[in-house]
Amino acid sequence: MPRPICAVIHRSALAHNLKVARAAMPDSQVYAIVKADAYGHGIERVYPAFAAADGFGFLDLAEGIRLRALGCTKPLLLLEGIFALEDLFMCAKYRLAFTVHSQHQIEWLKTFLKIQPEARFDVFIKINTGMNRLGFTPEDYQQAFTQLNQFRNVQSITQMTHFSDADGQRLGQEGVLHQYQVFRQATSSIQAPVSLSNSAAILRHAGRVHSDIVRSGIMLYGSSPSFPYQTIQDFNLKPAMTLRSEVIAIQQIQAGQSVGYGSTFIAKESMRIGVVACGYADGYQRITQTGTPVLVDSQRAQTIGRVSMDMLVVDLTHLPQAKIGSEVTLWGMSSQGVVLSIDEVAQGSGTLGYELMCGVTARVPFEIEN
Ligand SMILES: *Cc1c(COP(=O)(O)O)cnc(C)c1O
Repeated sequence: MPRPICAVIHRSALAHNLKVARAAMPDSQVYAIVKADAYGHGIERVYPAFAAADGFGFLDLAEGIRLRALGCTKPLLLLEGIFALEDLFMCAKYRLAFTVHSQHQIEWLKTFLKIQPEARFDVFIKINTGMNRLGFTPEDYQQAFTQLNQFRNVQSITQMTHFSDADGQRLGQEGVLHQYQVFRQATSSIQAPVSLSNSAAILRHAGRVHSDIVRSGIMLYGSSPSFPYQTIQDFNLKPAMTLRSEVIAIQQIQAGQSVGYGSTFIAKESMRIGVVACGYADGYQRITQTGTPVLVDSQRAQTIGRVSMDMLVVDLTHLPQAKIGSEVTLWGMSSQGVVLSIDEVAQGSGTLGYELMCGVTARVPFEIEN
């Protein structure tokens, strides 16, 4: 028998979460963001569940080529744009739209006009409204738009920005409005479609932000962008990935005995503990705190001591029926349908659901559930 750990992809949950995005912004086109190999879920595994998406966003040319290989005929968008002039050959061949965020990319488009005059591109021009990573400043924006608009090889322009605080605790002003106002001002004299909202803005600012194309990422995978203020249950989202393993050993320990490397956990009373086949080499973070929740046979339990490379330990004292082979849900959904959100687990390791789902390692086999 192979080591009893696997990651299960729930396709019905992915499709459900996409519907939640669409219902939140019914007048918008919904692009499914599948960067980082669909947030660690695998583009090929999630693709059939996203049949209702209006388009897809990602970072690598290779991801776009994989989507075309799956038969996708919908709009595909390179979120960080092109990284070299040569990328335009692939964009033309595979009909990939791309973000234009800097002047050097405009120069590449101009040069390419001479190389392949018949090529036509859909571009998303990015305005830096406060995130200060990519995009033209509001001062430079008009001029950049005008240049692109004059190029024969640019057949459509969508105006785009990215919110830095749509997931913030405070709604309104502190969330998106400061950037939205900058965006509206910079684009006030230009008629072109816009793309603004990420998951947090879709779920929390739908009424405040107009966006012809929304870019939904994390919510599709069943993680709340604004946890702990709001949970996946608050947004009616379902976990799309379960990390599942089993109890492979059980120990009875006495008060004063320690558990694991560094003896960081010392029992205060006698305890029954279970050893689980999952460690940091599977993507379960080493720094996870004692007390982080897991499900053992669908019942909540807690981790104790340090996570090691291949194992972690859970307290089974309150679960006398737990045994060797008991199912352990590290995050996601138990086979009885009990949910343990990835956000709760991420909180125990000082990170976000985003990082955990992207971090499941290559040695963990995947299964697909429809
Ligand atoms: C990743 C990304 C998104 C999706 O963000 P989520 O928070 O996962 O919804 C949207 N737009 C851009 C430009 C991105 O890079």
